[in-house]
Amino acid sequence: MNQNEKILEVSHLKKYFKAGKGVLKAVDDVSFFIRKGETLGVVGESGCGKTTCGRTCIGIYDRTEGEVLYKGKDVHSLKGQDKKDFTKEVQIIFQDPYSSLDPKMKVGDIIAEGLRAHKMCASKEEERKVVNDLLETVGLNAEHATRYVHEFSGGQRQRIGIARALAVEPEFIVCDEPISALDVSIQAQIVNLLIRLQKEKGLTYMFIAHDLSMVKHISDRVCVMYLGTIAEITDSGSLYSNPLHPYTQALLSAIPIPDPKVEEAKNRIKLEGELPSPINPPEGCRFQNRCKYACDRCRCERPELKEVEPGHWVACHLTDK
Ligand code: SF4
Repeated sequence: MNQNEKILEVSHLKKYFKAGKGVLKAVDDVSFFIRKGETLGVVGESGCGKTTCGRTCIGIYDRTEGEVLYKGKDVHSLKGQDKKDFTKEVQIIFQDPYSSLDPKMKVGDIIAEGLRAHKMCASKEEERKVVNDLLETVGLNAEHATRYVHEFSGGQRQRIGIARALAVEPEFIVCDEPISALDVSIQAQIVNLLIRLQKEKGLTYMFIAHDLSMVKHISDRVCVMYLGTIAEITDSGSLYSNPLHPYTQALLSAIPIPDPKVEEAKNRIKLEGELPSPINPPEGCRFQNRCKYACDRCRCERPELKEVEPGHWVACHLTDK
């Protein structure tokens, strides 16, 4: 697989949940891809569907419609050896290290679980060495293997979560808001660790976050989600210097960036109003009730995600020539 090859291809993916008598359209027709070795940042307000999208992409949730291909194979119908390979190659780092690690298990056993499931070590001694190496790789040490997670700080627990994911030598990791529960001072340390590991091991990341500033630091490309749909996808540089979707412009206005073009965008768009419910979302453009450019067409026709410049996709009627 070369560097430009797509490791993940998502086509018209929908994930709906029953919600009383209604249907919660958490992910409603999204299409995108991730290239091997890159980081795709996925951002948006809570409730925009980013976590559901990540989890559906790796088969934690079944899909309602659409298709997710990992290395060309349909994630939701994998069987036999293909399924085993997938569960080893694809890992997730969860948002909340406090609840995603078993408090009754020693850290060494938490990290070794995957090694045992995939029979990756020939002996206990080899397993111990691999676990110790992993602890050191994430900035902890061998002594930590015999302790329990309650003895660690939030940042250290997330390092344990990362070591657990790395143990099975994955290729693709969904980082599901891995820094949101951490102190700001610790967030950069975890992001820098993930960046270093990516370089050393050639990992591919889907990095889910609501903080655009941290996403910029780690992402090659960024996907902005709004109410179950994709508003814009482009490389990080273009997103921050030339945001084309009014929602992206509004999100950027919330963070201070010393770039005149972005500052201009900030002045043009202010995000007002509430995020509508994903149960019975509005017809037409989902962003219409918060968009100062909304017109009649926006209220009845949903804008398609279109490539308006090479590599820059936007779902907004304003970009129609
Ligand atoms: Fe605003 Fe219309 Fe574009 Fe939606 S399609 S973002 S409502 S201008």
